[in-house]
Amino acid sequence: MQRGRFAPSPTGLMHVGNAFVALLAWLQMRSANGGFILRIEDLDRGRSRTHFVEQIVSDLRWLGLDWDEGPDVGGPHAPYVQSQRMARYEQAMAKLTERGLTYPCFCSRADIAAIASAPHGWFGDEPRYDGRCRLLSASERQHRAEQKSPSLRLQVPAEVTVSFVDLVRGCQVGRPSDGGDFVVWRADGVVSYQLAVVVDDAEMEVTDVLRGRDLLASTLRQGFLYEAFKLPPPAYAHVPLIVDEGGRRLSKRDGDLTLFALRSIGVAPERVVGLLAHLAGLLERPEPIRPYALIPRFQMAKLPVSDIVWTAEHQSYLQPH
Ligand code: GLU
Repeated sequence: MQRGRFAPSPTGLMHVGNAFVALLAWLQMRSANGGFILRIEDLDRGRSRTHFVEQIVSDLRWLGLDWDEGPDVGGPHAPYVQSQRMARYEQAMAKLTERGLTYPCFCSRADIAAIASAPHGWFGDEPRYDGRCRLLSASERQHRAEQKSPSLRLQVPAEVTVSFVDLVRGCQVGRPSDGGDFVVWRADGVVSYQLAVVVDDAEMEVTDVLRGRDLLASTLRQGFLYEAFKLPPPAYAHVPLIVDEGGRRLSKRDGDLTLFALRSIGVAPERVVGLLAHLAGLLERPEPIRPYALIPRFQMAKLPVSDIVWTAEHQSYLQPH
């Protein structure tokens, strides 16, 4: 059986862009009679809030989505909240360390900004770490560790390539090393997103990951981790982002496009779902519809590849009626 998931970070209210991803991930599974998981990715302790978790659950249910496993319904792979899964991440980290694949890095954010080389295509504007802490001697490491706790980076050999067939974007090939050795364990003692997501998707037997195309480069890193753990990676579908007319992705700052705001002015969830389905190419024009009615219409091949511009027309469709 296929298994998919929606894995939001509870750092703000869900907006229409997050709802777009949730709806499509749900449709992909429901149209394949697959299982659907809700997983809360709250590793960013400084920005995650419990009330956002509650709001996400409530907003998803308001849209008409459901899940077979999740923080509120339980399931065989509980807990479904990353901050409660630390022991699993520690075990995975120990495996990487045992095999000598990681090294401590003492560089601060400012150090990295100063030494980083120009980023390569896949990794956008992320500064590329040059791997200098890899060269520290054992005594230097010990000396530095007395002053500062390090992050742990995974060594990514220059020649490694990761390839996958993206169900939306087609064949993808890239080198995870273009982004440099990456952090798997942060200096503040918390697992990195890259490691946690691989541990969880593997343990939760996720076969299909549908998410925003902003995570495309992460898929190279995660592909490298799957190889390191000798685990089969899931199939991927990276869907376009919803952007404003200036090409900027909608963010949690666009307050009036949060589901919370739309709900509070009395917009019907069917209108939100109908508009998102239209933007996904599943409906010729926006019309009010429940998610279940979209299941027979879901076809991955209909999804657009390019980002979707949110216009005043879309905005005016979402007025209370
Ligand atoms: N938690 C991530 C986010 O909200 C998504 C991770 C994923 O889908 O792999 O952006």
